[in-house]
Amino acid sequence: MSIFLRVIEIFLEIRYSEKNFWRGDFMNYREKYFAANKSDHGWYTCAKCGKKIRKKDADIDHIIPQKYGGSDELYNLQCMCKHCNRSKQAKLKGVASNLVKHNFKRAANKVLDNLKEKINK
Ligand SMILES: [Zn+2]
Repeated sequence: MSIFLRVIEIFLEIRYSEKNFWRGDFMNYREKYFAANKSDHGWYTCAKCGKKIRKKDADIDHIIPQKYGGSDELYNLQCMCKHCNRSKQAKLKGVASNLVKHNFKRAANKVLDNLKEKINK
């Protein structure tokens, strides 16, 4: 890999890394979510009903509601269609299992990405 590409890679790692402390200063949680979740040709999937939605129709939902101190970090953000997000409200029912499910998927995808990277090298 050329040094130039490596520099870009390092920059992107810093910009989009979840643990980066200064990123929150210039990215709101919606931008953060979309930066970390590449879409399938501009389509996103509602975490609740599974419907395919366009970015402009997607709501970024806090799994632990902000009202209860839910954070803007990626582990707490999921994509929802406007209908599901409106009907969800700021309730704590189902939050724990939702959080586990969401982050299990994220972890599995990360492992898959790492494997793909290794295979492609
Ligand atoms: Zn939905």
